[in-house]
Amino acid sequence: MKLERFLSKKGIAFEEKVPLARYTTFKVGGPADYFLCPESQQSLLEVLDFLEGEDIAYLPLGGGSNLLVRDGGFRGAVLSLAGLNSVALEGELLVAEAGVSISRLLSFCSERGLSGLEFLVGVPATVGGAVVMNAGAFGREIKDVLEGVLVYHQGELEYYRRDDLTFFYRGLSLPRGSLVVSATFRLHPSPREEIKAQMARFFGSRKEKQPLSYPSAGSVFKNPSPAPAGFLIEAAGLKGVHCGGAEFSSKHANFIVNKGGACAQDILTLMELARERVFREFGITLEEEVRIVGEG
Ligand SMILES: Cc1cc2nc3c(=O)[nH]c(=O)nc-3n(C[C@H](O)[C@H](O)[C@H](O)COP(=O)(O)OP(=O)(O)OC[C@H]3O[C@@H](n4cnc5c(N)ncnc54)[C@H](O)[C@@H]3O)c2cc1C
Repeated sequence: MKLERFLSKKGIAFEEKVPLARYTTFKVGGPADYFLCPESQQSLLEVLDFLEGEDIAYLPLGGGSNLLVRDGGFRGAVLSLAGLNSVALEGELLVAEAGVSISRLLSFCSERGLSGLEFLVGVPATVGGAVVMNAGAFGREIKDVLEGVLVYHQGELEYYRRDDLTFFYRGLSLPRGSLVVSATFRLHPSPREEIKAQMARFFGSRKEKQPLSYPSAGSVFKNPSPAPAGFLIEAAGLKGVHCGGAEFSSKHANFIVNKGGACAQDILTLMELARERVFREFGITLEEEVRIVGEG
């Protein structure tokens, strides 16, 4: 096939029929036709040009921590961004490529006494996924510390300053088919011990409230304005309710956890149940925070 020839010629690592359960924090999801791992921005851009030229569907993959891949898998190419993993200081600014994990970014910052991103401790994301989702916690969002973002769209790379972008609760408006290549952060100096202590406090609070010992994708639904989604799901009597291996966590009802052997359909069934019950009881429509992709 043309794609395989192209990838082999360019020396870009790829595999076929790769179960995406391996790459999502839910630990569910059927196979991707192709799983590609470009190792540099240059090869990423070449791959994107090729995929778009051949009209092959693709899915950028970060930490897979906000993704629910249906059991039939993804027809097309999953683009792992793990190879885009450089992080560097440029004067006062910190530039990180899309595939840098938040945990690595936080270690880099705390070692150098750079404060601003501590609230993201424990979020199993990459820089690209965190920017696209406008990840947030403890009253802060990643947009608050962003200086700008380098974005690929239709063959072009463009740098956008934060103020030229539209962020919202758990999202960023970008034209369809855009991919975040890197992000630039403006942080401020602070003693290392203070940064570490703040991260420990945030992480302690997470451990207390969230079911971190089972696979999940964090909050499944966005918090509607009248009340947190977890409160509504619990009040609708669903805490601890399960379908197959999936369960509304008894610690935090807006987390659906994979207690072992769950499939994507189990999770989707619970999500539908939550939507129906919360609407019936409170007249509130829950909107999903997790991104659902792939074939049923
Ligand atoms: C235990 C746990 C705790 C969590 N806590 C929080 C929390 O406190 N706050 C919060 O906001 N979220 C939280 N989450 C959810 C999740 O970590 C975030 O949504 C995170 O930002 C997703 O990043 P990712 O790299 O894993 O993205 P992925 O799940 O890989 O991708 C998410 C979406 O972004 C797209 N995408 C990924 N990378 C790029 C890119 N470079 N360019 C364009 N599109 C891209 C994907 O195609 C997909 O549509 C939590 C999840 C877990 C499992």
